[in-house]
Amino acid sequence: MALDINSIRADFPILSRILPNGKQLVYFDNAATSQKPQCVIDEMTRYYETYNSNAHRANHTLADEATTALENARKEIAQFFGTKPGNLIYTSGATEAINLVSYGWAKYNLKEGDVIVLTEMEHHADIVPWQELSKEKGIEVRYVPINTETYTLDMDAFEVAVKDASLVCVTHTSNVLGIRNPIEQIIQISKKYGAYILLDCAQGAPHEKIDFNDLKADFIAISAHKMAGPTGIGCLLVSSERLEEMGPFMTGGSMIRKVTTEGSTFQEGHAMFETGTPRIAEAIGWGAAVKWLSQFEMKDIHDHVHEIAAWTGKEMNKIPGIKIYGDPSNKNSSGAVSFLHETIQSQDLAFLLDEGGFAVRTGHHCAQPLMDALGVPSTNRASFWIYNTQEEAESFISHLRNVCERFA
Ligand code: PMP
Repeated sequence: MALDINSIRADFPILSRILPNGKQLVYFDNAATSQKPQCVIDEMTRYYETYNSNAHRANHTLADEATTALENARKEIAQFFGTKPGNLIYTSGATEAINLVSYGWAKYNLKEGDVIVLTEMEHHADIVPWQELSKEKGIEVRYVPINTETYTLDMDAFEVAVKDASLVCVTHTSNVLGIRNPIEQIIQISKKYGAYILLDCAQGAPHEKIDFNDLKADFIAISAHKMAGPTGIGCLLVSSERLEEMGPFMTGGSMIRKVTTEGSTFQEGHAMFETGTPRIAEAIGWGAAVKWLSQFEMKDIHDHVHEIAAWTGKEMNKIPGIKIYGDPSNKNSSGAVSFLHETIQSQDLAFLLDEGGFAVRTGHHCAQPLMDALGVPSTNRASFWIYNTQEEAESFISHLRNVCERFA
């Protein structure tokens, strides 16, 4: 069903923003973070205005309300991702979720000589924690290359790499290329060889229904702020089997059962990993975001974004000097279109686009190994989401064409 984009846009106050140079904002930096609908802002404000209190501690009315709201949000979010509240650990985002797998699971369960398989297209959040663990424990880290013609993973190399691996950590969708990996096949091959699987769904979750139960991954990392939720929160979805094998990551208040001067015992399940004062306002905001998103079919969001990205990619290809890294015409692409001009520096191009009101990302996108594989230091990236329009894409292409004609 087609989305009513005008009514969706009306939910996002920021989209009517006029920038200091008098230009209307056109927000194409959604892969970095999405905008927030008014209902998310309102729910967080309502918490601070009417029942701000710490959760899981005192017995007064406000504390009960805050605890209930925090746990209701967990139910809402877990349901959205096809799992139970007990299999959802709140984190600060995908980065902390992956670190939690590294320091809360792999540290306790992997040993020297074990193999972890990553890909060349991982975000630094899914590289650096494994490099650090590798240094600490003598674990081998292998990288599956990408084919730089098709921008897809080399699945033959993947199958070879995974044969003696203990853990496979793969991004669902590349934040640079917009390419969605064949995760069902990756999971199936990993399971065939007995490797556990961590999916980085930071980019996949805003574009596609992520169902933990259907996917049968061991771990899934998600950030709220890329899917209409606030910054400062995300989660690790974890299977009950892997959860039982986890040990403490961060220690302190909330995660303990009993502390004496001699030592401490810990909570079980997700509570062992939610240390200190919970992210109460953020969880409430994410719950509201998930409720807001639930009124749509994720497939409709994907189709809408894909249409804009495919059109933009096609038009960009007609502009002399522009090269696209990725394949926006691919039906599975997420809506991130990375590109470079052959003579205009990416930082200069970003500045010239900003002058027209267009917010795009420029840089290495926290994916330096991928930049190395592509042979470039950085790219410009336009990334689209639910509230972007064909008209915005048309004005972007027209501005980009003018800039390229004037400055090339
Ligand atoms: N993985 C991918 C693919 C991402 O795009 C990002 C954010 N750019 C992250 C992980 C890290 O997410 P966060 O910064 O929200 O923790």
